[in-house]
Amino acid sequence: MNIVSEIFNNAKKEGRKFLLESEAKTVCTKYGIQVTNFKVAKNEAEAVKFAEKIGYPVVLKIVSPDIIHKSDVGGVIINLKNSKSVRNAYRQIVKNVRKRRTKARIVGILVQEMAPSSTEVIVGAIKDPQFGPALMFGLGGIFVEVLKDVTFRVAPIMEDEAREMIAEVKAYPLLKGYRNLPPADIDAIVQILLNTSKLVMEHQEIKEIDLNPIMVYEKGAKTVDARIILE
Ligand code: ADP
Ligand code: MG
Repeated sequence: MNIVSEIFNNAKKEGRKFLLESEAKTVCTKYGIQVTNFKVAKNEAEAVKFAEKIGYPVVLKIVSPDIIHKSDVGGVIINLKNSKSVRNAYRQIVKNVRKRRTKARIVGILVQEMAPSSTEVIVGAIKDPQFGPALMFGLGGIFVEVLKDVTFRVAPIMEDEAREMIAEVKAYPLLKGYRNLPPADIDAIVQILLNTSKLVMEHQEIKEIDLNPIMVYEKGAKTVDARIILE
């Protein structure tokens, strides 16, 4: 069995409602969606070892099957520049989670590459009981949360539809570059939309997927958080 099916089967067997970020990112990678390099550490020493391997600065995040919104419980600490701050962040995250979610199981701490900030976009998909999975695209932050500036297409989509989706959000001109924002690699976003389409078509057990945010650069794009919710 391939690793992607193994991840889905394992989560199902355990009765889980969503994949861990590390699992969701492995699935993404297998579908050609670039994510920040990561490794799950089981203790402080391991976290430091992984941080040195990945390269500073790094981000630490809680890995728990009971926590879906990690930063809500103090489970994300970014921009760690040396081993001392990695050790402190490790302890701090465990402490935050123990305090705010007493019963949460802690699988480990995710150590990952810190993606330089850039234009943030969101790619997602949500399953409609009637039409099946629909893909979503929007720019990150206030554009999606406040202005609901997003666009949808029923999956599967083809390249021209992916390009239409990107061009039809109101914030589209920002992708062409604005003030200190560099122009974004539109082709990289198109590729993520197409790969996400393929993923949700091939894995009907996905109820919802949320790649949020994706940092888009002048060349390439990187997914910094991936959520996959299961049926
Ligand atoms: P949550 O489960 O709360 O959505 P995220 O993984 O999205 O947690 O982390 C919260 C925020 O931290 C992100 O929206 C992003 O701004 C920042 N962040 C997380 N991971 C990274 C990373 N690898 N590089 C840069 N910024 C990151
Ligand atoms: Mg997130």
